[in-house]
Amino acid sequence: MMSAHSLPPGQGQTAALWAGSLLKQYKNTDQPALNNFSLEVRQGEFFGLLGPNGAGKTTVISIFSGLMPPDSGTVRVMDMNFREKHNEIKHILGLAPQEIGLYNKLTASENLAFFGRLFGIKGKKLTERIRQKLEFVSLAEHAARPVSTFSYGMKRRLNLAAGLLNDPQVLVLDEPCVGIDAQSRNLIHEQLKELNRRGTTILYTTHYMEEAQELCSRICIMDNGRLVEQGPPATLLRESGMPNLEDLFLHLTGKELRDP
Ligand code: ADP
Repeated sequence: MMSAHSLPPGQGQTAALWAGSLLKQYKNTDQPALNNFSLEVRQGEFFGLLGPNGAGKTTVISIFSGLMPPDSGTVRVMDMNFREKHNEIKHILGLAPQEIGLYNKLTASENLAFFGRLFGIKGKKLTERIRQKLEFVSLAEHAARPVSTFSYGMKRRLNLAAGLLNDPQVLVLDEPCVGIDAQSRNLIHEQLKELNRRGTTILYTTHYMEEAQELCSRICIMDNGRLVEQGPPATLLRESGMPNLEDLFLHLTGKELRDP
C-alpha cells in the first residue's frame, strides 16, 4: 500500500483527495476524457475545479466518488483506495451530483430517509440527521411536502442535504448552484463556507468564476482532460497580470465555443 510519504507534499499531511496520472476514455469516443490528469486536494481546502464544457470535470468527480474507475492511474481518498476500502470511504465522503437524484413523489424527509438508509443510518439517529440537514438547508418547514412541489432551488438544496447525511469529512459537489435563484445560491454558499470553517474539505466544480473567486482557497483550471493551471485565485491573478478569473480562464482555455 502506498504510504502518506509517497504522496505529493501537502504540508506533510495525507491528501483528502489524490489523483495520479488518470486516464479515462469513454466507449465510442476518439479523445480521452481525462489524459494524464493529476490532482491533490489537501485536508481543509475549499478547492474549485474549473473548466469549459466537456473539460472532464464530471468525470473527475465521478472517479473521486467511486462511481466509476479510471482506465489507469491512481485515486485515493484520505489515503484509501476504492478497491480495498469502499465501505470506509463511503462513511467519510459526501457527494452532491449534478443530476438531481431525488424521488418526486416522496416528501423531502422520505427522500432523506431513503438516502440515509443507503449509508446504513437508521432509527433515532436517522430521524435526527434528517432534521439537522433539513434545518441546515432551510427546508425544515417543508419536510412533509412532496418534492414534486419544490422549486428548482429547493431541490438543489435538498440534493445537498442528501450529500451531507453521513456528516462527510470530504464533500464533493458538481455544479451545485447551476440555474438556481439568488437566494438559494446565497444560502448554499454561506452554508458551505460554514462547513468548510468547521473543517470539511470541499471539492467544488463550477462554471461561475465569481463563485470560485468568492469561495475557493485554491482552484485548478482543466481543459481537454488535462490540468492547465492551479493555485490560489489571488496568486494566479497576480502572476498572470489578469484582472479577474473570468479573463484568466478565457486566456488559458481560449474563446472557442464548446458546444457538444
Ligand atoms: P465536464 O463535466 O467538464 O463538462 P465531462 O466529464 O462531462 O466534462 O466530459 C468530458 C468528455 O467526456 C466530454 O468530451 C464528454 O462528451 C465525454 N463524455 C462524458 N461522459 C460520457 C459518456 N458517458 N459517454 C461518452 N462520452 C462521454
